[in-house]
This record gives sequence, C-alpha cells and structure tokens, in this order.
Amino acid sequence: MFAPLSRYLQALSELSRLRREGGNLRFGLPSVSASDIASQFYCERKVEFRYTVGRVRTPEMVEGENRHAKLVEKAIQKPPEQILREALEGKPVWASELFLASRFGGVLVTGKPDALVFQGGRPVRVVEYKFTGSRIPAHYHHVQARIYCLILRSLGMDTSDLRYAILLLPPSSVPPFDRISELVMQGTGEEGVFLCEPDWERGRRELAWALAYWRGRREAQPTATRSRCGFCEYRERCLG
Ligand code: SF4
Repeated sequence: MFAPLSRYLQALSELSRLRREGGNLRFGLPSVSASDIASQFYCERKVEFRYTVGRVRTPEMVEGENRHAKLVEKAIQKPPEQILREALEGKPVWASELFLASRFGGVLVTGKPDALVFQGGRPVRVVEYKFTGSRIPAHYHHVQARIYCLILRSLGMDTSDLRYAILLLPPSSVPPFDRISELVMQGTGEEGVFLCEPDWERGRRELAWALAYWRGRREAQPTATRSRCGFCEYRERCLG
C-alpha cells in the first residue's frame, strides 16, 4: 500500500476512536478543522462563541452555503480511500470535498478542500471557492488553503508541484462552471483567480498558533480589526 494512504487510514481510524471515546482538546473535541483554524484568523473569540453559545446562521450564510453546494454537487461519490488510491496510482483526479486528516504534534487536523487535483500520482492543486464581493483574498483564505497543503505534505505526498488556487466569486454572479478547471490549472491572471505557492514555514507558524488555543494553552483572542465587530452576531455578548 502507498505510505500516504496508510497514514491517511491510520488517521481515520484514530479519529473514529477519539469520536467514540472523546477527545482531549477544548470542548472535548477529537480534532480541529481547517475551517475553524481559518476562522481563528478572522476572530478567534467568535469561533469560541460558536462552541459555547451556538452557531447563528444569517441569511447571507445560508445563501453562500447553497451556492457553494451547487459548485460541488457533481462530485463523484466514492469512498475517500478509493479516490486517494486512484490518485496516488497516477490517475488524473479532480476530487470535490475529499475528507482529509493528518496528525500534527498529537493533534488531528481535518478538512475538506473544495477541490483537490492530482496528476502523475501527486497533488498539484488545492482549490478554494469563496463567495465574496472582495477582489483580494483575505489572510484567512490563505490560511485555510495552506492548512490543506500541510495536511497533504504531512501524509507524505509529493508536494513539489503543489499550488493552491483561490477563486473569489461575486455573491450574485453565476460561477464559471465550465472554465473552473482551466482557471485553477493555468491561473490565467483573470480577476478573482489567485494561484499561489504554499509558504510552508508560514503555514506551520499559523498552525502552531491556532493549535495552542485548542490545546488549552491560551485563551481566545478577540480580533484586532474592530470593524468586524459591527456586524458580528455575538457583539452584544462579547462587548456588552
Ligand atoms: S464582537 Fe468582535 S471581538 Fe467579539 S466575537 Fe465578534 S468579531 Fe470577535
């Protein structure tokens, strides 16, 4: 069996044991998701409120989730280990929302990139779709993509050709379904398409900072960008 596949299966089996027995991270979690880690870089205290108070879903979030679901609805339904085996054997693979997991210093980190592209037995693209009016990716968009890249590397995959693509899609636009693979592979320089080399060292530092919170080594920090508080659903609890 391929070594990355074997590591992946070990991570899955450890995850299911921790889900049964309970984890030793904050809130008894068995693992930390890449999307929570990215959200820590938006506002860590807001992430904590989601766990202590509960998630508040705004109409904009529901709309975003629906549009997102449309982008990944054509995903081929196969077990993730089968998709990974085929990818590592050298088949060209475009995997939508493939569940990833790997261990970092005793903590399991999981995630589902919007798409993963494999060529020649190795991952070549991590793809993230973001519905936003912004024309420049936010720092936390890069954080999330870098975590996926780190997971692939820590599983032992050859990441020498790996890049990540962030597609910023205006909230009211029709996503360019038929051109997405061309856009993310060629990084055409088109507005809203960002093709980036993973900064491995920066990714490791971001991960270490985020995991310190989940290990209980420090308290949740409020965002330094106070303009985010104005439309935060927890502002009365947080600032009141
Ligand atoms: S009010 Fe501001 S600091 Fe508090 S949780 Fe919301 S965004 Fe974070």
